[in-house]
Amino acid sequence: MSRDQQPVFDCQQCGDCCSGRGGIHVKPDEVEAMAALLKLSVEDFCRAYVEASALGPRLTIAANGFCIFFMEGNLCRVHPVKPFICRQWPFLPVLLVDPDELEHAKTACPGIDPACSHEDFVAEAMRQGRKNNL
Ligand code: SF4
Ligand code: SF4
Repeated sequence: MSRDQQPVFDCQQCGDCCSGRGGIHVKPDEVEAMAALLKLSVEDFCRAYVEASALGPRLTIAANGFCIFFMEGNLCRVHPVKPFICRQWPFLPVLLVDPDELEHAKTACPGIDPACSHEDFVAEAMRQGRKNNL
């Protein structure tokens, strides 16, 4: 099927990308934005929703393995200001530079067209103005 008929990426809202894999690491500006959305101080936000990890602070991983902000219906509680990596997915730099990583991502994310080539994927990322993240 041609690219005109099948998008490179079409999120199926399965929620898989909100679980496991080391969690979502956050930067201070991202924490501030989420705290503001929830009308909490940064301190209270961090107490409730951030935990330490070997790679730095990350959103707390709930007992079910999902991000603390993953809600019923596969929705994100902080969607308007969710961390950059959540907004960037699946057009992450590692997938843009490594075709093998893209193939691996296809097995985890049903939103990525399994038939799309790495070239198509990169072209779509560029089309969406994400080239500067390479
Ligand atoms: S894993 Fe892919 S299809 Fe599922 S919610 Fe995440 S981006 Fe969408
Ligand atoms: S912040 Fe939202 S989009 Fe990102 S992992 Fe958590 S629930 Fe998913």
